[in-house]
Amino acid sequence: MGTQRVYNFSAGPSMLPLEVLERAGSEITNYQGSGMSVMEMSHRSKVFQKIFDDTKANFIRLFHVPDNYKVLFLQGGASAQFSMVPLNLIGKTGRADYAVTGNFSNIAYKEAKKYGQISLAASSEDKNHTYIPTQDQLKLDPQASYFYYCANNTIYGTEWQYVPDTGDVPIVCDMSSDFLSRPVDVSKYGVIFGGAQKNLAPAGLTIAVVREDLAGHELPYTPLMMNYKTMIDKDSMYNTPPCWCIYMLGLVLEWLDGQGGVEGMEKIKHGKAQLLYSVLDDSRLFTCAAEKDSRSDMNVTFRSASEELDAKFVKEATEAGFTNLKGHRSVGGMRASIYNAMPVEGVEKLADFIRAFDKNN
Ligand SMILES: *Cc1c(COP(=O)(O)O)cnc(C)c1O
Repeated sequence: MGTQRVYNFSAGPSMLPLEVLERAGSEITNYQGSGMSVMEMSHRSKVFQKIFDDTKANFIRLFHVPDNYKVLFLQGGASAQFSMVPLNLIGKTGRADYAVTGNFSNIAYKEAKKYGQISLAASSEDKNHTYIPTQDQLKLDPQASYFYYCANNTIYGTEWQYVPDTGDVPIVCDMSSDFLSRPVDVSKYGVIFGGAQKNLAPAGLTIAVVREDLAGHELPYTPLMMNYKTMIDKDSMYNTPPCWCIYMLGLVLEWLDGQGGVEGMEKIKHGKAQLLYSVLDDSRLFTCAAEKDSRSDMNVTFRSASEELDAKFVKEATEAGFTNLKGHRSVGGMRASIYNAMPVEGVEKLADFIRAFDKNN
């Protein structure tokens, strides 16, 4: 192992801001004079309750969560939400619409079928998930209990550039890989959820933002721990919450505030993505996987003309301190995940590396 920190382009878990890690390090054995680590604290203690309340309040403020929504700190990963969403919401009409634009929405779609009549509102599988369907391409059922989509397709590198118009049907959105990277009009959604390990905190925490009136209508056999109402009534503390991750989220939110919140982050992340896409578009060797109007600002997917050259690129990039650029095993090629915590400098240096590689090969 090297002695220096690398630019880690991992799709998740991924980079955390250095100042957050340093702060956590400085407090790791004795949190603010409490004489103990946050990892050792009772979740019912006053000290932890303050961490919890401040973190939740900051999340609500920075993500502009309206009053009629509840913010839940859950476990089980984003994947547990693939079951929790239908269990809690499908009871209304027994039907739901899913847009499948990648791996995770496909898993969610298949999981939901256990609980009701699920329609495919759209699928981008015909072009190997390289694009996002347009509003006209969505086949919407006005009787659906909800419409489901995944905002950013982590593996394929596509991102929805609009919020679908579904009339009165509540929208459920998986924002795992672009959470808090841009402002979101939460009032357009019924449920927003995401695993924290891409943009927000270490793995182990899932955040759900739930419109309050949608909770409390769960299917009768819904497990206690998968019932939004249980968690709303107990303010996410029905059982022991992921305390350490919540503390880390708090530190990341403070950092995000210093970046100008989600509004500031939107400019920064868009600039980083544009830089990479422009270098790739100008290159001789590389092509981007996603169609131009569907490109993700978080996961930039690209490839060269051959698998051998891809492997050479990944190897040389790793040696130069740019790690985890290999594409997902199901699609190959390369993927640069440039979440909130990836410094602009890391992207600039990668852009230089891509230019040089293009010239020399
Ligand atoms: C990573 C990811 C998931 C899976 O998250 P887990 O927390 O591992 O369950 C789901 N959806 C999207 C969009 C992701 O990027």
